[in-house]
Amino acid sequence: MTSAPPASYYRDSMAVALDPCHSLTGQTRADVCVIGGGITGCSAALHLAECGYSVVLLEANDIGHGASGRSGGQILPGLGTDIFTVEKTLGIERAREIWEMSREAVRLTGELIARHSIPCELAWGYLHAAVKPRHVKELAEFQERMARDYHYTATRLLEGAALRERVVTDAYPAVLSDDEGGHLHPLNYTLGLARAAQRAGVRIHTRSAVLNIRRGQPARVETALGSVQAEHLILAGNAYHADVAPELNGRLMRAANYMIATAPLSEAQVAQVLPHNDALADANFVLDYYRLSATRRLIYGGQVSYDGREPHGLQARMDAKITQLFPVLAGIPIEYRWGGDVGITLNRAPDFGRIDSNFYYAQGYSGHGMALAGLAGKLLAETIMGQSERFDVFAAMPHRRFPGGSMLRKPLLVLATNFYRLRDRL
Ligand SMILES: Cc1cc2nc3c(=O)[nH]c(=O)nc-3n(C[C@H](O)[C@H](O)[C@H](O)COP(=O)(O)OP(=O)(O)OC[C@H]3O[C@@H](n4cnc5c(N)ncnc54)[C@H](O)[C@@H]3O)c2cc1C
Repeated sequence: MTSAPPASYYRDSMAVALDPCHSLTGQTRADVCVIGGGITGCSAALHLAECGYSVVLLEANDIGHGASGRSGGQILPGLGTDIFTVEKTLGIERAREIWEMSREAVRLTGELIARHSIPCELAWGYLHAAVKPRHVKELAEFQERMARDYHYTATRLLEGAALRERVVTDAYPAVLSDDEGGHLHPLNYTLGLARAAQRAGVRIHTRSAVLNIRRGQPARVETALGSVQAEHLILAGNAYHADVAPELNGRLMRAANYMIATAPLSEAQVAQVLPHNDALADANFVLDYYRLSATRRLIYGGQVSYDGREPHGLQARMDAKITQLFPVLAGIPIEYRWGGDVGITLNRAPDFGRIDSNFYYAQGYSGHGMALAGLAGKLLAETIMGQSERFDVFAAMPHRRFPGGSMLRKPLLVLATNFYRLRDRL
């Protein structure tokens, strides 16, 4: 799932215009060169420029071409893995710091949208849905442990009529509502960050794939037609980065995820689907997630592929899901279909670190980066400014490479996912 974006609803509803972003030609210099124009890269560039750094951002395609411009748009506290896994590895104190930073990531998203007047349809309210009876127990335990050990009390377990007030379906025995989560138009948010970065002085060059990096102090970043000499480098290519830093090989698995958008719902249909305008994700490993756009389209995501090929019967399966969840929407036209690549790590915790003393990266949000990537950009900026404590809390998380080397990695992951898919059915 690479090059030309498929027919994304987001591309058709763009509301932010950037100043022209010409391809890089010739030689230039900057304090920092950022590689990748998703949320991570745009946020890093913006935060650095606001503190007086000269920044060049190079994007291989267009701003938001990657996951940031294609995603489900759900902004949630937490990580792609549960915080208790972090706790086992780093201890409760570090896990608490990470949990609090994940909450900060959501607040930061709201602050950036307000400060830069980004028209991206931000709405609050999130439901985590149990699909099986065992999920209900797990959600209840999560709620209790989060309140006890993390002082997190924003969640409510809803069943029966209280559940149906928020999502009108028989598909779930319970949902955990979380007032700190929400949703937005991800492409407009990403473009809004890029526009704010431009206003702060960042020079953005699109259609400028980085092909080679000559490490050093300064480093030299090369594209087909130009180069940037910079004191510091940030790699923010996530699942889309193409081997410009071999040290990262095997730390990330690229998995395609698929989205559809229905025709706009009537007011009456909205009342029978998501009357409170919540975002929802279910508790399965291969999960379904959805929300309404500001134009009242149901934006639904799910299904996964690890080999870049569209899964057999994808379209029929996705369409059937809408009707299974909401029989009231039977026959509603599906007007957009697209997909994007998620960068997942073996333990599903994000992977932040240094490739060299002046070369940093943040990646591998494992399907949970809409809010976290914005904070990652801020932490990358703090690190370059000499305050790396918060970045290093994340960077301390140990990461292993996917087993199997380049030949066996994907088949092994497919096997593992099939196991979890089977488990989802039990
Ligand atoms: C279908 C889908 C649904 C998702 N839904 C959600 C969700 O609901 N909630 C959530 O929290 N997360 C979700 N995610 C994950 C989330 O979108 C990502 O974690 C987040 O956007 C990552 O941002 P990023 O800036 O790090 O990477 P990206 O947005 O992928 O940006 C990387 C950019 O780097 C560029 N690039 C790569 N290599 C080079 C190079 N050599 N030179 C120049 N540029 C380069 C790419 O073109 C790309 O634009 C979803 C992801 C997908 C794909």
